[in-house]
Amino acid sequence: MTDDNCIFCKIANGVIPSTTLYEDEQFRVILDLGPASKGHALILPKQHFADVCTLDEETASKILPLGAKIGAAMKKSLGCTGFNLVQNNGESAGQTVFHFHMHVIPRYENGPSIVSWIPGNATPEELVQTAEQIKSGL
Ligand code: 5GP
Ligand code: ZN
Repeated sequence: MTDDNCIFCKIANGVIPSTTLYEDEQFRVILDLGPASKGHALILPKQHFADVCTLDEETASKILPLGAKIGAAMKKSLGCTGFNLVQNNGESAGQTVFHFHMHVIPRYENGPSIVSWIPGNATPEELVQTAEQIKSGL
């Protein structure tokens, strides 16, 4: 199922051209227009899913292996020494395009910090309480 109003549906299915580095029946992998580092890629399913919560399990099961394959190819070809697999869900999490996608971001020695956060603090009691809260939603 695709969504006529979704730009990533159009890109994934070749209606809008993109710089594609991999394609199969279910996915297209393209270069991000605003790369965080050289080679920053996006894995797009050809079907429309808004985010990870609506992704079907069969599609989901293929994304991590594909991310690993693309990341390994980047290490081999671009000289990066690592890569981040990043996937944003919801506006507060930084999602700007509401068609599921996984970022594959090459990381270079002495490159800029791209995906990081400042570690906070929590007491053991707070951790237990938070875990109980999340468990209630499972
Ligand atoms: P998000 O913030 O939703 O996780 O990521 C969306 C990403 O898509 C951003 O990194 C942005 O640069 C990229 N992007 C947005 N529109 C286009 C487009 O039309 N073509 C390509 N190749 N990338 C896009
Ligand atoms: Zn879409």
